[in-house]
Amino acid sequence: MSIHSINPATGETIHSFPVLQNHAIESILKSAATAQFHWKALDFNQRSAYFNKLAQILRQSRDKYAHLITEEMGKLLKEARSEVEKCALACEYYAEHAAAFLADEPIVSDAGRSYVSYQPLGVVFCIMPWNFPFWQVLRAAAPAMMAGNTVVLKHASNVPRCSLALEAIFREADFPENTFRSVLITSAQVEQVIASEHIAAVTLTGSKTAGRKVAAVAGHHLKKCVLELGGSDPFVILADADITFTAKQAVIGRFQNMGQSCIAAKRFIIVETIADEFISSFKDLVSQLRYGDPKNDATDIAPMARTDLRADLHKQVKRSLSMGAKLIAGGTFMQTQGAYYVPTILDQVRPGMPAFDEEMFGPVAAFVRARDVEDAVALANQTQFGLGASIWTQNITQGETAANEIQAGCTFINGIVKSDPRLPFGGIKHSGFGRELSYHGIREFVNVKTTWIK
Ligand code: NDP
Repeated sequence: MSIHSINPATGETIHSFPVLQNHAIESILKSAATAQFHWKALDFNQRSAYFNKLAQILRQSRDKYAHLITEEMGKLLKEARSEVEKCALACEYYAEHAAAFLADEPIVSDAGRSYVSYQPLGVVFCIMPWNFPFWQVLRAAAPAMMAGNTVVLKHASNVPRCSLALEAIFREADFPENTFRSVLITSAQVEQVIASEHIAAVTLTGSKTAGRKVAAVAGHHLKKCVLELGGSDPFVILADADITFTAKQAVIGRFQNMGQSCIAAKRFIIVETIADEFISSFKDLVSQLRYGDPKNDATDIAPMARTDLRADLHKQVKRSLSMGAKLIAGGTFMQTQGAYYVPTILDQVRPGMPAFDEEMFGPVAAFVRARDVEDAVALANQTQFGLGASIWTQNITQGETAANEIQAGCTFINGIVKSDPRLPFGGIKHSGFGRELSYHGIREFVNVKTTWIK
């Protein structure tokens, strides 16, 4: 069996890799566990030095890695460059703050002295998706490793070259051997890894289906897991929103990374009184987006990551149209080679349609009309997901009141939802559990240990 690296802009297979055999996996897990024993003994300054070096390599070779990302999953090269830079920032952030985040905490109790310390768990198994093939990995690995854990990565099967490049960067930064390992395995082999005595915990970013499976296996083996799953983020536009500014942000929020982001704006819930004007501005902006070679900085519309994902998205669009959604633009494959999908706008989307109920992981904007702010908030919450949300209004008090009512891991007012190493990131409901980033993220894979002294 092989894992293929296919350029989504051309359909060309760049490279094929053999899948790792089961016995070879076990030996890597054992090496990662042995390495953890030494890694955890280093102090924070020593671990920080490695991560600062990693950040330096990412910056120095930014363009090389950006090209690799673009060739393998299709995103715009300019977006891939930003992704690599953001990875460097996350490494530096944890290099700087991990010691403070995990410092012992004295607690007053009935003891003569008592305190809480944060000790690493062991080897953390990271199952990661293709949509931000560097960022998703490093935002999980940097805090887990700064806390003293080692990492084994199972990357998505369409980005094996990114997976191997990440392992090579850790090697280039002179990390002790086996502290970060990448295994080219299929999702069918994941169960064996989670079950291994060498694995202490697991984190997955991906679909609900994968999340259910991984959580069930982790539960069976009584191992800690963090799940960062999909979303159907509402982008709530209230009657007093600044239409020109908000429409521009809406286009970015929906079409960056070709809409393939868990926190992309997916349901545009708009108060009826401004809906026609807003949708018309949005449509104008979308019509100006240029498709082309993702490596060309003038291109706005890149291919999707895989043709099967495009086919799934198209089915969701067709089903929504058959249920009464109105097609404003797009709704079709682009007549060119590669996995391109025409930027699509749907209006009159309602609960019960795939464009409302399911995650639309691609360049499709679904407009849902609301009577007023209360109706908009109710529609925003009428979803199985709860990852992010944004609210657009010139009345901040009204925006904050609505934000408080929204069931999500984060709410942004007059800004598109984004991740930031300083702020916790994660969801509720079917968007998963646990948090990444900030000091919350680094405390997911530690033993919060009480010490009590008479
Ligand atoms: P998946 O959830 O299938 O893939 C994410 C990761 O999970 C990959 O490493 C994948 O490995 C692994 N995986 C998949 N199934 C299982 C399983 N049963 N047990 C263990 N591991 C598994 O995402 P897809 O690439 O198929 O994309 C499908 C949908 O998932 C998207 O349309 C979107 O809705 C959602 N998604 C959400 C993301 C997010 O950021 N929250 C990111 C990516 C996808 P392998 O590639 O080998 O199958």
